[in-house]
Amino acid sequence: MMQTQTTCPYCGVGCGVRATVSDGVVSVQGDEAHPANFGRLCVKGASLAETTGLAGRLLHPQLDGETVGWPQALNAAGERLRAIIAEHGPQAVAFYASGQLLTEDYYAANKLMKGFIGAGNIDTNSRLCMSSAVTGYKRAFGADVVPCSYEDVEHSDLVVLVGSNAAWAHPVLYQRLVQAKRDNPQMNVVVIDPRRTATCDIADQHLAIAPGTDAGLFVGLLQAIAETDKVNADFADAAIALEKAAGWTGSRSRGFLRPARRRSSGVLPALSRRTARHHSLHHGH
Ligand code: SF4
Repeated sequence: MMQTQTTCPYCGVGCGVRATVSDGVVSVQGDEAHPANFGRLCVKGASLAETTGLAGRLLHPQLDGETVGWPQALNAAGERLRAIIAEHGPQAVAFYASGQLLTEDYYAANKLMKGFIGAGNIDTNSRLCMSSAVTGYKRAFGADVVPCSYEDVEHSDLVVLVGSNAAWAHPVLYQRLVQAKRDNPQMNVVVIDPRRTATCDIADQHLAIAPGTDAGLFVGLLQAIAETDKVNADFADAAIALEKAAGWTGSRSRGFLRPARRRSSGVLPALSRRTARHHSLHHGH
C-alpha cells in the first residue's frame, strides 16, 4: 500500500488529499491535517480516484475515427488549417485555449496564432477567471495577491459575498463559513447577487441588484460610508473617489435593486454601517 499527500486540482480552494494505492486500486480521502479543508472534500474532490483510470481517454492521435501516428495527424491538422486560411483568410481561425496551459504552452499557442496564422483570435478561459481578479488586486493593493486567508474569513464579523455562489463554486470554503456562522451567530453574511442562490441560505441579507449594476452599488456604498465619517481615506486616489461618489445618494443606488426589493430602503445604510465597522470581501471567479 502506498499513500501520497497531494492537492485537489479542481478549484482554488486547494484542498489537501491523501491518495492511497492498494493492489493497484486508487482511493482518496480529505487530508485532515491540511489547513485549507481539514479533511473535508466536496463531491468533485471525493470523486478524484475515478479519474485516474485510462478508460475513455484519448491515448493516441485519431483521424476520422482511425488511430494514426503523430506526423500524419499534425500534417492533416496543418493542411486543413491552411485550406481554411487560403479560402477565407486568417480571421476565419480562432483558438480557445485552456486556462490550465503552462506559460510556455501559452507562448507557443500565441506565437502560432499571432506570428504564423496572422490574426489575434486567441483567448482562454483565464479571462473569465483570474484576469479580472488580478486587475482588481493590482489596482486596489498594488500586487497580484489575495489579501486574506481562510481563517480571516472565519473570524470576520461581516462577510460580503459579491456575485459568488460559494455554496456551489467553492463548497469547502462555504462549509467553513457555515461552521463559523454556527460558532459565532453574530457573524453577518451579505450576498450581493441578482439571483437567489444556495449561498443565500446563510445570508442575513440578500441584495438582489439588477445585473450589471454592482459598480453603482459600490459607489453608493462608499458615499453612504462617507456620510457616517467612517472612511479610512488613506488609499490611492481617495479624494477623487470620494468626490465622484458624492452624487451617489442612497435613493440613486437603491434604484439598482430589483423592483421587489426596493422597499427595503434601509439596505444601504444598514450595509454601510456594518461595512464601516469591519469588512471582508470575497469575490467569486
Ligand atoms: S472544494 Fe472541491 S473541487 Fe475545490 S479543491 Fe476542494 S475538493 Fe477540490
